[in-house]
Amino acid sequence: MDFDSPEVKKCARALKEIDFELAYLALLTCEGLKPLSRWEKPLDGDGLELLQQIGLLTKQIRRTVKTGKEVVETIFSRSPAYIQLYEQHFGNSPIDKSAQTQRFEGFLFGYPPCCVNQYIRRPYAANNLAAQEQKILFHWACRNCKITPALLTACKNVYNLLNSC
Ligand SMILES: [Zn+2]
Repeated sequence: MDFDSPEVKKCARALKEIDFELAYLALLTCEGLKPLSRWEKPLDGDGLELLQQIGLLTKQIRRTVKTGKEVVETIFSRSPAYIQLYEQHFGNSPIDKSAQTQRFEGFLFGYPPCCVNQYIRRPYAANNLAAQEQKILFHWACRNCKITPALLTACKNVYNLLNSC
């Protein structure tokens, strides 16, 4: 992704207008820091088009919640294989938070497995990140994580770029 390109900046700004977090997820996914991302809030055709304009593949996936109500998730990725994996595994299925699901989601979303395992054992256990650092990650880091610091540096760059555009 060429962040100097006026087209890319324009898309990033438009995505930010929809939701900062959506724009941030989109850029992290474009940069390959997340193989696939999921957006759980409603997103219309304009939003989908913006994601596609910055080079992402998108797909809307129907799921159900416990009450039987249908929800639509939007997933996006640079990789058709990841879109397919998500769709095969979760398409038309009820939303669940089992350990097995969390492990598979962690794999798709690019979370370090050590952090996923710690989260399954005990969610939000104290780690050694500053609140400001934890805030720009989408996974909860395990204590003394060997992967998160490197990931954090890369995420910070994207976060700052997005803030300045
Ligand atoms: Zn970790």
